[in-house]
Amino acid sequence: MLLDIILLFLLGLTFGSFVNAWVWRVKAGKSVATGRSMCPNCKKQLDWYDNIPLVSYILLRGKCRNCKKPISIQYPLVELLSGSLFIGLYLHFNPTQNNTWLEFALWCAATVFLLAAFIYDLKNMLLPDRFTLPVIGIGAILVILNSVENGPASIEPQLIATSIFVAIYFSMWFFSRGRFLGDGDIRMAAVMGLLLAVPQLIVGVFTAYIAGALVGIYLISKKGKKRDSAVPMGPFLIFGIFFGLFLGSQIANWYMGFIRF
Ligand SMILES: [Zn+2]
Repeated sequence: MLLDIILLFLLGLTFGSFVNAWVWRVKAGKSVATGRSMCPNCKKQLDWYDNIPLVSYILLRGKCRNCKKPISIQYPLVELLSGSLFIGLYLHFNPTQNNTWLEFALWCAATVFLLAAFIYDLKNMLLPDRFTLPVIGIGAILVILNSVENGPASIEPQLIATSIFVAIYFSMWFFSRGRFLGDGDIRMAAVMGLLLAVPQLIVGVFTAYIAGALVGIYLISKKGKKRDSAVPMGPFLIFGIFFGLFLGSQIANWYMGFIRF
């Protein structure tokens, strides 16, 4: 169990490092498969020992060895987040006990794409299809798996909820002519609906909105950010997905017990 967690954390760190490089390359219009990692400032190629997730950042004290330019805190943070999410997924699915290896692996794959979408949207206010569409595919496989395991009737509520959720997002996009949200957010709504069962989905959506509102208020008050300046929605939806997955059922149960009483 402990060994599993340590190995998964290291795997998560590695994938986090990949996500950082991937986001950077997509933005720069480069292929992810070619060329080695380099410093974005002085363009010097990184030696392997300066490219170890988390460890190199700490050993280099957050500065490029060659030009001494500070390395963005994004790099170690994304690596840590990725490692932590892999552990979180493992504890949540408990695959050795529940024999949910396939679900667990699919969620790990989805996490890599979602992290890339999170960072990319935060920096560029855009959710590229190459990050969202694969997760729609993964979500569809998870829904099919669930239907095979628990019968077709078990996925009906989720498919209805997903359709309503996507329809609401489509309408908001359509009637605001893309001002309230981008068309990438519609695909992210589909991602959310396909990944989360109904109680988790509802908790996830509310969490995304509350987190979005809090951050919006904070930005307006602190940085004097103009009220109409846009904040990307994708990162909040992605935060809502993980919050809904990990805590959605517990919160829904607690709430239902609360109102029944
Ligand atoms: Zn440099």
